[in-house]
Amino acid sequence: MHPDYEMVIGLEIHAQVNSKTKLFSGSSTTFGAEPNTQANIIDLAMPGVLPVLNTEAVDAGIKLGFALKARVNRKSVFSRKNYFYPDLPKGYQITQFELPIVEHGTLTIDFEDGSTKDIGITRMHLEEDAGKSVHDFGDENHSHVDLNRAGTPLMEIVSEPDLRTSEEAGIYVRKMRAILRFLDICDGNMDEGSMRCDVNVSVRKKGVTELGTRCEIKNVNSIRSVVKSIDYEASRQIDVIESGGEIAQQTRLWDEAKGTTRAMRSKEDAHDYRYFSDPDILPLCLTEERIEKIKQAMPELPDEMKARFITEYELTNYDASVLTLSRASASYYERTIEAEEGKKHDPKLCANWVTGELFGALNKMGKDITQSPVSPENLGELVGLIQDKTISGKIAKQVFEEMLETGGAPKKIVEEKGLVQITDVSALDGIVKDIIANNAETVEQYKSGNQRVMGFFVGQVMKQTQGKANPGIVNDLLRQNLQ
Ligand code: ADP
Ligand code: MG
Repeated sequence: MHPDYEMVIGLEIHAQVNSKTKLFSGSSTTFGAEPNTQANIIDLAMPGVLPVLNTEAVDAGIKLGFALKARVNRKSVFSRKNYFYPDLPKGYQITQFELPIVEHGTLTIDFEDGSTKDIGITRMHLEEDAGKSVHDFGDENHSHVDLNRAGTPLMEIVSEPDLRTSEEAGIYVRKMRAILRFLDICDGNMDEGSMRCDVNVSVRKKGVTELGTRCEIKNVNSIRSVVKSIDYEASRQIDVIESGGEIAQQTRLWDEAKGTTRAMRSKEDAHDYRYFSDPDILPLCLTEERIEKIKQAMPELPDEMKARFITEYELTNYDASVLTLSRASASYYERTIEAEEGKKHDPKLCANWVTGELFGALNKMGKDITQSPVSPENLGELVGLIQDKTISGKIAKQVFEEMLETGGAPKKIVEEKGLVQITDVSALDGIVKDIIANNAETVEQYKSGNQRVMGFFVGQVMKQTQGKANPGIVNDLLRQNLQ
């Protein structure tokens, strides 16, 4: 990134409501069905049919409004967005334009150093998806259309241009996905298209306050690609500007294989779509009762859970935000803390093991927390063994490796392998005395002020005890004996 420039990024996320039926018809939304088996006369735009609004999608919108601390409009309006495309049988898409269901929200993103940043949410509106054109059918002369997606309910969430780096954009998408999943209104599966991202990028010289001309990259479908496409697009724009050119406002496509964006069309303006309110659908008016009922039933969300973890378990902001990115990891973590008879394992130590060793190992295996070979109860037990000094932290890592492989319980592994920590002072003292007697030269070095040889002695004791000696006791004994 050129040091004189900064990026400005605004995201539009299309999140599919996980309702069983479409936004205006009763056909199924199940993923992966045979082409054109899930489109009925409404989706196909037969003459005389009338759309009926899916109430589940409306409720999902209200929930998201609360989660984004936004205004939920008591009245919103569905409009027709007119354009011609083969995958759009009506010749228009039903969406919300002037009066969306949700406006003026905020989403807080969390950084590794514990800081946070609020990103403005301009609006969230409900709309229907289009179908899909299929060009790679092994038939060069024809394209095909699959209308299974036509009419699928979407929430389009538009951010303010508040993001300044590709990293921030990645964190934003991950957080939004977490919220959608906590609310159980969208499954967030980007590889199945249930969450897609349009990425708007512009660049400007640092210190300039006006926004630069933006390009919009359409339908980016993984967080990794969001990050990579922004980095590519920003440096492309900087190159154009630095070589004396001007940015054309464009819609661009992300080419995953090449790692580049390419122009698709010059960007259309709102008036190109000839929006007007849909005469077939009454304005959506929400009653206070309905809104209140949903408000009362709101689940604990990532930010609230994060705050609770910080106060209840004294976790750092970052650990708490990582653990609350999914309900599954949060509940896994909370189960590691529970010990027998109402006792608790050290919550901070549990957090270290979950976010460090466990997440690291799962990442390597390409598994998510629900597929962990180590159960939360067993990981908690391992933490318990460290806490009561049965084993050292170092041995614990060895035990953990075994648990990953076999799914076994740590107590059993420690017993079977004879890994219990040696805390018997007189036994360790004997070993220390032997080592000192056999290394006269190194002892001399120590006495002449070379403190670093201490590490050598500790290493020798660990070698003789296969790492089982209690490090604190060993250090004390060495110091005493070396005096
Ligand atoms: P459209 O529907 O035509 O794409 P919107 O007004 O809905 O237009 O804005 C789309 C997104 O573009 C928003 O997320 C907004 O924050 C972002 N955006 C607007 N201007 C800029 C800009 N100059 N640079 C980067 N992002 C921008
Ligand atoms: Mg757009």
